[in-house]
Amino acid sequence: MGRVYNFSAGPAVLPEEVLRECAAEMLDYNGTGMSVMEMSHRSKAFEEIINTAEADIRELMGIPANYKVLFLQGGASQQFAMIPMNFMKNKVADYIITGQWAKKAYQEAQIFGQANAIASSADQTFSYIPDCSDLPVSENADYVYICENNTIYGTKFKTLPNTKGKPLIADVSSCFLSEPVDVNKYAMIYGGVQKNVGPAGVVIAIIREDMITEDVLPGTPTMLKYKTHADNNSLYNTPPAYGIYVCGKVFKWLKANGGLAAMKERNEEKAKILYDYLDESKLFKGTVRACDRSLMNVPFVTGNEELDAKFVKEAKAAGFENLKGHRTVGGMRASIYNAMPKKGVEELVKFMKDFESKNM
Ligand SMILES: *Cc1c(COP(=O)(O)O)cnc(C)c1O
Repeated sequence: MGRVYNFSAGPAVLPEEVLRECAAEMLDYNGTGMSVMEMSHRSKAFEEIINTAEADIRELMGIPANYKVLFLQGGASQQFAMIPMNFMKNKVADYIITGQWAKKAYQEAQIFGQANAIASSADQTFSYIPDCSDLPVSENADYVYICENNTIYGTKFKTLPNTKGKPLIADVSSCFLSEPVDVNKYAMIYGGVQKNVGPAGVVIAIIREDMITEDVLPGTPTMLKYKTHADNNSLYNTPPAYGIYVCGKVFKWLKANGGLAAMKERNEEKAKILYDYLDESKLFKGTVRACDRSLMNVPFVTGNEELDAKFVKEAKAAGFENLKGHRTVGGMRASIYNAMPKKGVEELVKFMKDFESKNM
């Protein structure tokens, strides 16, 4: 069997060119006579891999010199704890609840201090982004937290919240490197890479240097202090070496394909194909308020659970994998990350049209 069109929300599709390069270098990386999986993280070869990866993501995102780039483990979920442990100096933080991932981060922060939900779209099953232009930001909030792209519900902040001068922290797991970003607007941007960048096991955190101090909550373990990793260039202990190597290859692929501005154009073009069809279809409907639609995750329904299940099953048989919606939402979801070719979306829409004509 050949490669399928993989619409998984994560771990997700990676560029085929990158996978081929990894395969070609599997037994002998660059004349070292060993795989990247087998080499010391203190070796010259790996040092070059991690340094090049950092330089490339800095170039891609235009990361200013006063920000650290950290390669960490523990998944995005571990950041839900590390963020309050490192930054809740006043023990107060404000959270905007736009879905399950934001809610989980908010709940975790409650372990460490006073986490306030200053806005939420729970009232309409997280199908929109609340107006964040004038929120009741807490006087002594250590930071304001958002999940910028909501993987499960398919919404995205098109405008960042007005944090009234407080540091903004964003989980960008499912929109990482999907479009240009002004890093200066954030105190910290982070994401698990397994959605849009690389294999599971790596988290990239981009943190403004003044945020990284020894002044963390008492009892914070060494491994959970950003300072530990920042002071050691992400090599305090063994990093997720192979995953970092694959991320580095994806950065090169992004650069070769025009960088983030070109990615945005491609992603907008792909998303438009699917959303335009959802808007005209008599069978399928998008579930998200149009102005808040994600370019990466596109949930849709027929309104009939049996028909949804039939669609997912027939789509799978036709080579369109992982279209089932999140277990908490139902319906369908097509994740169309950077590495999903335009052709994959076109073929999916063709299949949906055909399904519609047979089932209406
Ligand atoms: C998948 C996801 C997470 C959780 O990631 P893990 O690496 O599994 O902990 C957190 N936030 C967002 C936005 C996600 O999409």
